[in-house]
Amino acid sequence: LELTAGRRLAELTGAEAALVTGGCAAALVQTAAACMAGTDLEKIKQLPDSTGMQNEIVIQRAHRNQYDQSFRTAGAKLVEVSTHDELEAAIGPRTCAIAHIAAYEPKGSVKLDEVLVIAHDRNLPVLVDAAAELPPHENLTRFVRMGCDAVMFSGGKGLRGPQSSGLLLGKKWLVEAARLNGCPNHSVGRPMKAGK
Ligand SMILES: *Cc1c(COP(=O)(O)O)cnc(C)c1O
Repeated sequence: LELTAGRRLAELTGAEAALVTGGCAAALVQTAAACMAGTDLEKIKQLPDSTGMQNEIVIQRAHRNQYDQSFRTAGAKLVEVSTHDELEAAIGPRTCAIAHIAAYEPKGSVKLDEVLVIAHDRNLPVLVDAAAELPPHENLTRFVRMGCDAVMFSGGKGLRGPQSSGLLLGKKWLVEAARLNGCPNHSVGRPMKAGK
């Protein structure tokens, strides 16, 4: 059911792959885990102890919010930056992703299109928390079209789906790894089951 629903959602949104999660926050946990452990079953079992893994997620200070605890729930460490230069300088051998919160783009912050260039130059994924970005419905496909690696929506907000649901849209490798880092697999996402 999970795989079939994901394929249909990918068709509808133009994403390479998709996964129904137990909420946007659950998707944040599972994508963080995916970026650290990938599909390695030993590493998946080890989380949230991320010792020995690339476990740093770079995030702009202006994007910090109460929901980013979910990245830490998976075992990731957040590295805060303020400027474009700081963002580039913060990327190192332990970096596994850059987080971007679509609702927080104040003047002077690094915009998503620039973040994508910086990240993809270095082969890093961009994780976009777009929990409350629907409506407008165009956003369901816009972030995917921009090339974002993971785009996460809350099912219980503007999507008006079940309160306990969320959507992860994105690159095939990342969605597959996020699936393995979630229920029913024994993983950090095991408690975050999406009901049928
Ligand atoms: C609401 C919200 C979430 C969490 O979404 P759930 O579907 O309730 O888990 C995450 N990030 C942001 C920015 C939100 O507004």
